[in-house]
Amino acid sequence: MIILKYAADVISQLKKLRLTKSSTGFVPTMGALHKGHISLVEKSKEICEITICSIFINPTQFNNADDLKKYPVTLENDIYLLEKNGCDILFIPGVSEIYPEGTTLKKHFDLGYLQSILEGKFRPGHFQGVCQVVCRLLQITNPTHLFIGQKDYQQCMVIKRLLELENFNIELIISPTLRKKSGLAMSSRNLRLNKQQKEQAAEIYKTLLILQQKIKPGSLQYLKKEAEEYLITKNFKPDYIEIAEADNLKTVNQWNGLTELVALVAAFIGDVRLIDNILLKNQPVSIRNL
Ligand code: AMP
Repeated sequence: MIILKYAADVISQLKKLRLTKSSTGFVPTMGALHKGHISLVEKSKEICEITICSIFINPTQFNNADDLKKYPVTLENDIYLLEKNGCDILFIPGVSEIYPEGTTLKKHFDLGYLQSILEGKFRPGHFQGVCQVVCRLLQITNPTHLFIGQKDYQQCMVIKRLLELENFNIELIISPTLRKKSGLAMSSRNLRLNKQQKEQAAEIYKTLLILQQKIKPGSLQYLKKEAEEYLITKNFKPDYIEIAEADNLKTVNQWNGLTELVALVAAFIGDVRLIDNILLKNQPVSIRNL
């Protein structure tokens, strides 16, 4: 695996590789890698001839300075995992490489209502920061395929919109969420949980499964309230627990029994904020077509 810090080196290295290889898969991450990230690398290797992964803790997507400061860094282990799993290039840029003109965002991406609901509401500016970094990384890596995780459901929709807005001709591949045996979605932030909090955190997925089992046509208000109260009894501080249409994230209070739905949750355990989601209909929605 070739490890590079500078955009110019990534561009020239990819140019060399592309003399004999035609497809490039890109996996953007913020590091502290786990099996969820590696599943994206594996998928890229299945589909593409070149796989490039980036590790960059993007300051502009953190609305909370403390969260940025506490974001876990496990670079040595990340390099080991990527090398072991056959990643070809690892790009680890510094902030000035991604934001040569500083981190005050100049460009605005028109994300419509996606920007102001759910994560957008609770993390103002977050998705503008995500678009900023993904856009810059895509310009550098110029991939044929982009691999991201369903774990960040709203982010998948935002990135899909970004590809349209910027006319990127890139195939977006969305992979399912990898979980621990307990059901807890793998996340870099789990490293900040102690043993007891990890056990408690599995209640998030349990809540989503209960929603999946209990949902029926008609009003969803009571079900949402019940799920929120359940989380509170388990010592969470929920930001939201919401049900929305799976293909556009419009929130739903009344269900016709037909529309594909997704339940999404964001909740704090101590000072660690976790998110998760689940598709609510039995037949899995084609997430490639989000
Ligand atoms: P992050 O490092 O948290 O920015 O995540 C990098 C990529 O990995 C994003 O596309 C995430 O959606 C994806 N990802 C994070 N956790 C998981 C997981 N448990 N399963 C699958 N993909 C994941």
